Amino acid sequence: MDKKWNTRTKLVHSGTRRSKYNEVSEAIFLTQGFVYDSAEAAEARFLEAGEDEFIYARYGNPTVAMFENRIAALEGAEDAFATASGMAAVSGALMSMLKAGDHVVSARALFGSCLYVLEEVLTRYGVEVTFVDGTNLEAWKSAIRPDTSLVFFETIANPTLEVIDLCAVADLAHAVDAKVVVDNVFATPVFSRAIEQGADVVVYSATKHIDGQGRALGGVILGTKEYIRKTVEPYMKHTGGSMSPFTAWVMLKGLETIDLRVRAQVEGAEAIADALQSHAKLERVIYPGHPNHAQYDLVKSQMGKGGTVVSLDIQGGQAAAFRFLNALEIVLISNNLGDAKSIATHPATTTHQRLADDQKEALGITPGLIRLSVGIEDKDDLVADILQALEAV
Ligand SMILES: *Cc1c(COP(=O)(O)O)cnc(C)c1O
Repeated sequence: MDKKWNTRTKLVHSGTRRSKYNEVSEAIFLTQGFVYDSAEAAEARFLEAGEDEFIYARYGNPTVAMFENRIAALEGAEDAFATASGMAAVSGALMSMLKAGDHVVSARALFGSCLYVLEEVLTRYGVEVTFVDGTNLEAWKSAIRPDTSLVFFETIANPTLEVIDLCAVADLAHAVDAKVVVDNVFATPVFSRAIEQGADVVVYSATKHIDGQGRALGGVILGTKEYIRKTVEPYMKHTGGSMSPFTAWVMLKGLETIDLRVRAQVEGAEAIADALQSHAKLERVIYPGHPNHAQYDLVKSQMGKGGTVVSLDIQGGQAAAFRFLNALEIVLISNNLGDAKSIATHPATTTHQRLADDQKEALGITPGLIRLSVGIEDKDDLVADILQALEAV
């Protein structure tokens, strides 16, 4: 039935499981285990657990199942597995599928921990990884081989906001039967059509827009029922990266309002990108939803909207960027994104500090670059705060 519902209805109702008390708000089943009526019933459940039968919270839990079913309905995926963090989702999606001798092609511009998993962990277990410039289709074409088993990329790169052409890369991968795994955080689940556009597996850090209120770490892996239950679930339940029932409840409540929040955040991001165009103190303003963005047409067809993050390159390098950050009154200095509160980050000295200078340069992480995650505050207040902080530079 929920197939027919539109997004906001799914976000409020999909996946709900009511107990015998018929509670309105989703219940938190804060239990690690479940009691069986008899020894025979326990044996039968271990042999095969039904849809609404649970064994142990590392394997599954009613509150966690509600979250998985609701996010799967939003994404248009057959099934989902909820994880303890976004990185448990990224590493679980990859490790559960790959084995020694496999070949992976990945975009080079990655969240630092994703880069660690691909560059340091997978290779340690005999997986060969080739990195490419994700925006260059010719580079994908020459790196993907007949024996490539998987491609991985963030659909919008952090923090330079370059967009990867999902349909085109998926066509190249599928031509050799390679699976397409995307980290879709910056596109957000609200604007994602990743599965219809060719992703086989979609991964989110739920810590970002899904919680959206800075409270809990979480993640989710979405894909076919076969992949989630036969490949991901055995790996996750035996290696321990499952989501806790309390976190699942926080994330379920986050999903109820995610469409409202993310659309308000996008309005703020659009207003900020408009107000800062050709500002005298800025080298560049990067926003995928602005007609100036080099890949604006791709953004329109792939997501429709430009997301909730705007990056600014301030003239005068790190000193100027620090003066800007220290002058902000509403926008917080921190490093999460997708939050209801606007947050500014200086990637070169924080999230991407570990990278060598030439790597930063190759990825466009300049000393003046600020990543601005736009929250749900009044957009005029945000524009005024950013303009006054630029005055102080
Ligand atoms: C934050 C983030 C992650 C990791 O998520 P955690 O919940 O912090 O583990 C992975 N990929 C991207 C693109 C992210 O922004």
